[in-house]
Amino acid sequence: MATKKCSFCGRSEKEVSLMISGINGFICSDCAMQAYQIVQEQEGAVQPASSSPWADKLDWKTLPRPASIKSYLDQYVIGQEDAKRYLSVAVYNHYKRLCQSVTDDGVEIEKSNVVMVGPTGTGKTLMARTIAKLLKVPFTIVDATVFTEAGYVGEDVESILSRLLQVADFNVEATQRGIVFIDEIDKIARKTDNPSITRDVSGEGVQQGLLKLLEGSVVNVPPKGGRKHPDQDYVQVDTRNILFICGGAFDGIERKIAQRLNTHVVGYNSVQNVARIDRNDLMKYILPQDLKSFGLIPEIIGRLPVLTYLNQLDRTALRAILTEPKNSIIRQQQKLFQMDGIELVFAEDALEYMVDKAVDYKLGARGLRSIVEAIMMTPQFELPSSGKKRFEVTLDYARQQLEKSNLNAMQG
Ligand code: ADP
Repeated sequence: MATKKCSFCGRSEKEVSLMISGINGFICSDCAMQAYQIVQEQEGAVQPASSSPWADKLDWKTLPRPASIKSYLDQYVIGQEDAKRYLSVAVYNHYKRLCQSVTDDGVEIEKSNVVMVGPTGTGKTLMARTIAKLLKVPFTIVDATVFTEAGYVGEDVESILSRLLQVADFNVEATQRGIVFIDEIDKIARKTDNPSITRDVSGEGVQQGLLKLLEGSVVNVPPKGGRKHPDQDYVQVDTRNILFICGGAFDGIERKIAQRLNTHVVGYNSVQNVARIDRNDLMKYILPQDLKSFGLIPEIIGRLPVLTYLNQLDRTALRAILTEPKNSIIRQQQKLFQMDGIELVFAEDALEYMVDKAVDYKLGARGLRSIVEAIMMTPQFELPSSGKKRFEVTLDYARQQLEKSNLNAMQG
């Protein structure tokens, strides 16, 4: 058989590491690589090689569209349809802003920071974490309760950016297009609706600090964060393109919504509207002004134009959360036992019992995890050394284990 020669460089099989055959010719691995690069360059997709994933520029063509962001969220988050849609669009628009070319038509897309309102344990943080896995930009979650006004004990708001900077491997350019999830934003609300004359360390001062970041400004950021390294050099970060997503429980906000709906009802038309109001689901009527009456300053609210809500999880949702998400609590338990070679099964009435208890504890899905952990404590301790191959959690067993645990004391 004649020796194979690369149809592009003419070298023989012996001179190259790999020869690929076609119908009428051959291509060596070197030429194939070169051809690949040419194609990439043609499509404008070649980026400078770098060890940091953030060095890559966003490629508009490969970015996930809102519908695929949402279906990704669907795999992990049960219910909360509105919030998922809002968040998918917000993230997509964020990408769009970052990809927009310098406009000659003068239209510049402004960023739309997001605020998610919903009771504890309904999936706000879960949603943020899930979306982080999908994102092509640096992302961090911070808790607003750690912030205090400059000069007081606690962290400065600028430390939010220190964390983002760390996630972005100190790449300032990447930091400037990142996303920050600020949890418990309601905890920095002013205590009353009226501006206070005394100093409000944890409230308005922090909100003013945060406002600067939300609006977009150049901020001096201590790269290592905090005030513990006073000698560190500051890095300048422009927050104009950083997307902020805020979350908070805003306990009692439904009362404010109800009050507003009542006071605004005057005249025949409104009477008709009132009839249509679903009293059991007031959250869906939430408006920015409700946040104001809760103690967020109007300037902050103005900088959080996208407002969405999460519902209290009902029995059906809680039941689904136990088994349906890709990494559901039950699947995680089964995986743990699988590693010991034990098949773990749950009787349907045992699962229903767990849901009943979670409803009693009023901790949303958060309660579910504690309940499952409490029930599984003894089997987790005993089964790995028992030699059993299968274990079923029955209703009686679940009840007996939970009644033995400290959790039982929580029942009101
Ligand atoms: P919060 O709204 O207080 O931020 P989390 O997102 O931290 O609540 O929820 C706590 C836990 O409860 C999550 O880790 C998850 O296991 C479960 N969970 C809460 N809401 C949902 C949901 N909608 N779908 C699936 N799991 C959920």
